[in-house]
Amino acid sequence: MPSKPTNRIGEVYGKLTVVRISSRRSKSGNTYWWCKCTCGNEREVPSDSLSNKLRKKKNVTACKKCAHENARESIHKKNEYQEKERKKQAIQNRKLLEGKVPQKWLELPLTDAHARELGEKHFFRGIKCLNGHLSPYRINGGCLTCAKEQSKTINKHQTK
Ligand SMILES: [Zn+2]
Ligand SMILES: [Zn+2]
Repeated sequence: MPSKPTNRIGEVYGKLTVVRISSRRSKSGNTYWWCKCTCGNEREVPSDSLSNKLRKKKNVTACKKCAHENARESIHKKNEYQEKERKKQAIQNRKLLEGKVPQKWLELPLTDAHARELGEKHFFRGIKCLNGHLSPYRINGGCLTCAKEQSKTINKHQTK
């Protein structure tokens, strides 16, 4: 016989407040609770996902819509931060390369995203590719020197 579930109404987990019990039960007899999100949406959550213990992924702390938005927002923030760091790094790298590389390289956009923003095809981060070339990159295409060498070796093979 499944035991009577503890009353959890009023408990708060992140944006969710438990408002009433659901008639739904998991296969193992776990209770589901209807929770109200601060945005007004309700979400049915299994009892064992309502916890304030630090666990990797099981905890539910918002309605589906808010959880989705949170995830999207944090990815967006992370990308924005990484892009800012990439630009900062590129500026630093390029400063050190002044006079050592063609001036026009230093006038290229700083990063892939920066090039896209400006509608340009090439950018120069002032970093070496995996093959050790210090060279501008093509958006979606990688190192320009690599690309040139590749087409050279292809020609060589063809003329052999
Ligand atoms: Zn919500
Ligand atoms: Zn290369």
